[in-house]
Amino acid sequence: MPIDNIIYFDNASTTKVNPEVLLAYTKVCETTFANASSIHFEGQKANRLLNKSRELILSTLNLSNTHQVIFTSGATEANNIAIKGYALKYKNRGNHIITTAIEHASVLKTVRQLEKEFGFVVTYLPVDQHGEIQIEDLVNAITDKTILVSVMAINNEIGVINNIEEIAKFLKSYPKIAFHVDATQAIGKFNLNYADVDFISFSGHKIHGLKGTGALIKRKKLEVLSLNSGGGQEDGIRSGTNDVAGAVSLAKALTIANSKISQNKTKITAISFKIYDYLESNPDLYEINSTKDNPYIINFSLKTKKASVVVEGLSNKNIMVSSISACHSRKEAYSHVVESMNKGEYLSHNTVRVSLDENNTIEEAKIFINELDKLIRGIKQ
Ligand code: PMP
Repeated sequence: MPIDNIIYFDNASTTKVNPEVLLAYTKVCETTFANASSIHFEGQKANRLLNKSRELILSTLNLSNTHQVIFTSGATEANNIAIKGYALKYKNRGNHIITTAIEHASVLKTVRQLEKEFGFVVTYLPVDQHGEIQIEDLVNAITDKTILVSVMAINNEIGVINNIEEIAKFLKSYPKIAFHVDATQAIGKFNLNYADVDFISFSGHKIHGLKGTGALIKRKKLEVLSLNSGGGQEDGIRSGTNDVAGAVSLAKALTIANSKISQNKTKITAISFKIYDYLESNPDLYEINSTKDNPYIINFSLKTKKASVVVEGLSNKNIMVSSISACHSRKEAYSHVVESMNKGEYLSHNTVRVSLDENNTIEEAKIFINELDKLIRGIKQ
């Protein structure tokens, strides 16, 4: 049944906090509130908790021996630290970065800043009509000036899954090139192998954690230029008093999400298939932009109606979906992702994203389909 009478189908934007995660957070606030940098007993207690959270995150992702956790305010900050921090640190080795045309703004705008302000040259790998990059394009893009490749694990608008394991393996023969993966939409949902990835970014609030929590997981031996200078916390990379409760809550959210990956996938796949069945049986109304491999994100363009009108109409019926990434400012009200898939201007301006999670039900999908269908056919209500 709908939660609180609301059908929340916008989980790729953010998720509802898990009460267990919230409890872990408040418990630390109440019992272990000292500054983790203080040398007194309470400070050290907080520091131990912080380090335990790091270990838990690394062991959950099987990265304990090779990587370290830098706690951040979320994936945006993690992406900025990885890309700017690495590129600026190693700029003498080369000035070329490779990324994809469909990254999140926190990657695209970061590399653009490096282009504009710091003289870097960026190659944006194209995608095909399914939103997939071709490994050959990556191979061909590499030059002796390339120092960084940044490819998202899963796209936040169309849900396409990149083969980051294959890319990571391939890049192993280029020791000068670091590999960064924005794993925000993958972590806690898919069991990917990050062993050969150098930098991994994610946010807590996408996996029922708290907003303002997240991490950059980096290979220990790689250095980055600090963007936040100060007291030297987080290995000197991100200074500022540690948010121990946030760190604990992030580790909790991740371990819970990871323990439910296969059970959630089965449940959500059934819900997504219901919605796909409806969309596929109406090809004159909908262009499907997502693939069924990732049940969490369903993306389609409207052929006959404005997406903003339909999203608002659904919202009036207590159904929350999104038209483009909620992270974009309103003036960029089109999908650069769908545009990159060469689907044309109209379809890229009229995308709808339904993003599911474990709290959703088949019942909700049925209500959604019914309301969408009425809106699309202009049935007065
Ligand atoms: N990368 C991806 C793929 C995302 O989906 C998001 C959030 N939409 C971000 C980065 C940024 O995350 P946050 O806003 O939590 O920093």
